[in-house]
Amino acid sequence: MKIETALKELQDIVVRCRKCPRLVAYLQEVSDHKPRRYRDWDYWGKSLPSFGDPGARVLIVGLAPAAQGGNRTGRMFTGDRSGEWLFNALHAFGLANQPNSLQREDDFKLNDCYITATIRCAPPKNKPLPEETENCRPYFLKELDLLKNIKVIVPLGQIAFIQTLKSLRLKGFVIPSLAFGHGKIFSLRTPRLPKYLYGGQANSSLRTLITTYHPSQQNTQTGKLTRPMFHRIFKMIKKEIEDKG
Ligand code: SF4
Repeated sequence: MKIETALKELQDIVVRCRKCPRLVAYLQEVSDHKPRRYRDWDYWGKSLPSFGDPGARVLIVGLAPAAQGGNRTGRMFTGDRSGEWLFNALHAFGLANQPNSLQREDDFKLNDCYITATIRCAPPKNKPLPEETENCRPYFLKELDLLKNIKVIVPLGQIAFIQTLKSLRLKGFVIPSLAFGHGKIFSLRTPRLPKYLYGGQANSSLRTLITTYHPSQQNTQTGKLTRPMFHRIFKMIKKEIEDKG
């Protein structure tokens, strides 16, 4: 089966997923109580599919959709402040065709990049429960199987970093204890284990993990993360994929 078809089938399953009753109820509550500025919006209000270039060499891993952002527009990071930062940087480094995306129906496209998240439904206060993260993990693991050209993986923020490491270990990557920080680069050792908890072949093209602070308003408005700091991450990403092909 072609990668595009397999990804589409996975995304169709994600969009129908109702494994987490608390989150399903929360999404309904958000749609029923829209803030005034979005009162004319017909909220997506479901689990969010990942999106991007099926042949991508760069995989960005977000934490969770924003209740008034992706959960409203129907596409990850679309229509929220974190997305403005992320899409601006992706465009500046040739990984997206537009510097921002405010709605699902625009012509925004990723090039050589794919965006996913550790959890696909917006959680209350941006805090998923551990069992909700585990419910969602198989979708991420399946994407790691399907996205066969990924060379660099970039979790956004510490929680996505921790969850990404856990998923990579489940896929058989041998990863020692790593400390989070902004702008760190780690080599990923080729998987050696023949059997994986969730089945499937681990992605042997994946060689590098790069860390970054999350472009959340909390970080960008306090100066913890500046544009030059964030763009430095994308210079590192480009260097990795250009040096190693
Ligand atoms: S968070 Fe993931 S597992 Fe839970 S309902 Fe949403 S898509 Fe399903």
